[in-house]
Amino acid sequence: MAFENLSERLQKALKNLTGKGKISEADINDASREIRLALLEADVNFKVVKDFIKKIKKEALGKEVQDSLNPGQQIIKIVDDELTKMMGEEAVSLNKSPHIPTIIMMVGLQGTGKTTTVGKLANYLMKNEKARPLLIAGDIYRPAAIEQLKQIGQQLDVPVYSEDNQDVAEIVKHGLEEADKNKNDYVLIDTAGRLEIDEQLMDELKRVTEVAHPDNTLLVVDAMTGQAATQVAEGFNNDLDLTGIVLTKLDGDTRGGAALSIRAVTGLPIIFTGQGEKLTDLSTFHPDRMASRILGMGDMLTLIEKAQQDYDAKEAEKMAEKMRENTFDFNDFIDQMEQVQKMGPLDQIIKMIPGLGNNPALKNIQIPEKQIDHIKAIVYSMTPEERENPDILNPSRRRRIAAGSGRSIAEVNRMIKQFKQSKEMMQKMTKGDMGELANLPGM
Ligand code: GDP
Repeated sequence: MAFENLSERLQKALKNLTGKGKISEADINDASREIRLALLEADVNFKVVKDFIKKIKKEALGKEVQDSLNPGQQIIKIVDDELTKMMGEEAVSLNKSPHIPTIIMMVGLQGTGKTTTVGKLANYLMKNEKARPLLIAGDIYRPAAIEQLKQIGQQLDVPVYSEDNQDVAEIVKHGLEEADKNKNDYVLIDTAGRLEIDEQLMDELKRVTEVAHPDNTLLVVDAMTGQAATQVAEGFNNDLDLTGIVLTKLDGDTRGGAALSIRAVTGLPIIFTGQGEKLTDLSTFHPDRMASRILGMGDMLTLIEKAQQDYDAKEAEKMAEKMRENTFDFNDFIDQMEQVQKMGPLDQIIKMIPGLGNNPALKNIQIPEKQIDHIKAIVYSMTPEERENPDILNPSRRRRIAAGSGRSIAEVNRMIKQFKQSKEMMQKMTKGDMGELANLPGM
């Protein structure tokens, strides 16, 4: 998980403070030292760490904190606030052009995830703004990049403009004319990257900028490169007017140095993060939520936002209707499971829930994903008639289904029982009769 190491260390450093009635200056010094080491080990920029610790100490030693009833929690709050500030405080959105199209140019070193991010962002804009984007394939030196973008376009049913031309600025110019003709509201430009910044690359990107006048020039950086990402950002920002950062591969970044330093060092906001290879693995960046997540306070808002974005409201209403009419069958069951799966790996979702995120018992949780596959295998071994009428599943049918799906009879029985139970429970809920559920916390 992202920030796992940092998260563990910071929580350990702060744990000693919670529950203490009174906190001494020595306690604060001890905690500060631990926090400092944790941040440096996470590859956060040295100067950023120094400023951070100075602020924490100053605030923690303040009279209000010392005299408060629960100084330990107050200090955690201070660390939470300062972490949030370090990452930019407020979430920053894309710049919108007053007239269509809004142009987004994606730049960055090779392999950081530019092409993938163009696809993710197109998908995001379509889902959230019902946008009609056009993608321009401007990475002409890597033939595979053009093919990759075309495939993404096909997957999303989005047009991709490309041409056999060595002059990228010209391709972009023609692509923009195409977008004008088609009245696309967004244009996303993929550009070439290099292994490192060089003059030729920058010249090319500057020429593209002059032609495209992008409303957003987003630098894609790989979170796993830690502090090196901040240097790359400074390099690009010297030559191009960057408007923001997309931090990719956060799923593989256990340290967190790039996310924590890049804003403080370059002044550029992180606008999106990528946490996987799929086109849905893109999230808006909220410094406050990220800080809470690092400190193990979960990230409910991101979870809710993700659920809203990926969950099809119409589909959900259709399901509720079926519940009310008691026609919910195994076909719907599978549909629903697929909706949940669209939200991403369940282990990642679980980790965003406060209190569960760092639960050691859940550290290696793998079950749900596999279980869903098993359930699907069982349902797919049913005849259409059985799927529509779960009541006809007698023992001999169950035996056949078990053999067909390669699961045990016990598992088939358990699954059918669970299906019936959840159906009953959901029926109660959709009828407004919450029954025992009404007593659960949060309901
Ligand atoms: P480009 O050279 O900058 O266009 O990079 P690509 O878009 O081709 O991405 C390089 C590799 O990184 C591909 O294998 C992508 O699937 C992968 N990648 C991109 N974004 C992410 C991410 O957020 N997480 C992970 N794990 N992989 C990613």
